[in-house]
Amino acid sequence: MYFVKQSGWIEVICGSMFSGKSEELIRRVNRARIAKQKVQVFKPSIDVRYHHSAVVSHNGTQEDAWAVDSAAVIMELVDPDTEVVAIDEVQFFDEQIIDVCNSLADRGLRVIVAGLDLDFRGKPFGPTPVLMAMAEYVDKLQAICVKCGNPANRTQRLINGHPAYASDPVILVGAAESYEARCRHCHEVPV
Ligand code: ADP
Ligand code: ZN
Repeated sequence: MYFVKQSGWIEVICGSMFSGKSEELIRRVNRARIAKQKVQVFKPSIDVRYHHSAVVSHNGTQEDAWAVDSAAVIMELVDPDTEVVAIDEVQFFDEQIIDVCNSLADRGLRVIVAGLDLDFRGKPFGPTPVLMAMAEYVDKLQAICVKCGNPANRTQRLINGHPAYASDPVILVGAAESYEARCRHCHEVPV
């Protein structure tokens, strides 16, 4: 164990899809609750400013969460007696999430963020890489490559069963889209 004299820090849980980021976030939240700490969980929302929701992992574990449409709303919703703030899918937040995480940690809170470090092209994703650089603790998880069984650090995007092109838009109307975990060698991004 590390000895920590003053509280307040950032922990990043990153990796590809299916690497267990949500599971790990939920595990840490549960343990903080066992320690009788007040925890608030957040995730991004695309429509309304904020609403009650849940973080659900691919193996079915879940935790109540606020879905919020911007990083600024998190600052408004954090209660004065909250000790732990957990944020899932952090890659989808605006750049302001970096200041939000830092000010909460400076204020003495434990900030746990989980998110994709790479997009489907294998490029750094949104604010996650900056948060990894600023965090006290970083855990990079790996899934299992569905092609070869090796550890997988990439997310393969498939459109109608075929690897998506690097130039494909993030939202393709009418297409059957799916994602799978793949290793560096099996990851395909046609140009
Ligand atoms: P993430 O938040 O990183 O997308 P989750 O925590 O939601 O991951 O899900 C992790 C779970 O996904 C694993 O415990 C396992 O049950 C399941 N899973 C499905 N496909 C894979 C895969 N290719 N590699 C590893 N786990 C997988
Ligand atoms: Zn592979």
